[in-house]
Amino acid sequence: MHIIESDITIIGAGLTGLTIAYLLRDKDIKITILEARERLGGRIYTQTNNNDTPLDLGATWFSNQHTEVLELLKQLKLKTFNQHYSTTAIYEPQPNSKHQIVALPQNNEGSYRLVGGTSHLINTLYQHIKPTEVKHNEIVTSITQENALVSIKTNTSIYKSGLVISTLPPNLFDSTITVHPELPKEAKYIMQNTHTWMGDSIKVGLKYSAPFWRENNLSGTIFSNAGPITEFYDHCNYQNNQYALKGFLKSDYFSITKEERLTLITNQLKKYYGDGVKNFTAYEELVWTKEPFTYANYNNSVFPHTNNGHAIYKTPFLDNKLYIAGTETSASYSGKMEGALRSAQYICKLIEELK
Ligand SMILES: Cc1cc2nc3c(=O)[nH]c(=O)nc-3n(C[C@H](O)[C@H](O)[C@H](O)COP(=O)(O)OP(=O)(O)OC[C@H]3O[C@@H](n4cnc5c(N)ncnc54)[C@H](O)[C@@H]3O)c2cc1C
Repeated sequence: MHIIESDITIIGAGLTGLTIAYLLRDKDIKITILEARERLGGRIYTQTNNNDTPLDLGATWFSNQHTEVLELLKQLKLKTFNQHYSTTAIYEPQPNSKHQIVALPQNNEGSYRLVGGTSHLINTLYQHIKPTEVKHNEIVTSITQENALVSIKTNTSIYKSGLVISTLPPNLFDSTITVHPELPKEAKYIMQNTHTWMGDSIKVGLKYSAPFWRENNLSGTIFSNAGPITEFYDHCNYQNNQYALKGFLKSDYFSITKEERLTLITNQLKKYYGDGVKNFTAYEELVWTKEPFTYANYNNSVFPHTNNGHAIYKTPFLDNKLYIAGTETSASYSGKMEGALRSAQYICKLIEELK
């Protein structure tokens, strides 16, 4: 096994991990980021093939309340645009009721999307940090305190570091990474019972050569209690020359095949828009429960936001050598991209103070 040394090791190259590296980029600190997946971004993933419509299969939207997201996008000179809603939506109140066209309330807040998709933020952050800092396909399995250092074991190597920052959803951290000496029982219990935002979601998208859903003053916005689609939105690109519909399925549909999900989706869309729905040019989906580097089963029933931003995430462990970061640990906007950025800022401040 190779032994690699650095001042700070960050586990995870999602939004939190890359933002921590970005915030520390001028500090003369040797940073290594260990990422289990081949790709960067974690719960941010924009799917594109041959430059066709970018589909955000993870995070998509942000609003004026998400001040840190907007500030970072400004610093990085990334462009945003408004989510297309129009004034009406299709609404299906219950399984056997006929769908209705309802007026959408005027939404002054609005929600924004990123030109090129949210992975564009990830790729831009990556360009601002040294490429050698990120090691792909490195699955961390244990963290051991060794006097002044921590030793971080992966599937291929051992990394020695002055301190280590986890950015994993806390339940995933507790389920997949062993810590020596063991963390306090209360901390482990809280991690096991911290909800992973969107960890059980299913996101799907259909690409089309024309946005037929915009006809007759419809918008592509669907809210259904009949399923499998629960929410759907227009997902055309910023230039308005590549077209898609995209949204969420009920999480119960995780165990059937991709083909079965597609049939159910097109049957549901056909009720609203007619036979044209079958002429999609591509179907894409991401079942997040099947992503071992996002989701781990819980021991108990854990409801959305449970223990998000809990006080145990405020202070480090292992004599100030292990920090638990990530959107779920943020005291505000936890679960969201905004929470990931606030967590990154909090951890950097803490490191600065404890130096
Ligand atoms: C379907 C979906 C829709 C969403 N929609 C929105 C939205 O519209 N707006 C919004 O603001 N937010 C949204 N979110 C939430 C948003 O994606 C997250 O808040 C944010 O991306 C979390 O970033 P993070 O870095 O904290 O965690 P993650 O992105 O989960 O990053 C953790 C990283 O750790 C890596 N990792 C895991 N295990 C290991 C290991 N053992 N060793 C090494 N690396 C490991 C993972 O691969 C990953 O890259 C959505 C999320 C999903 C899944």
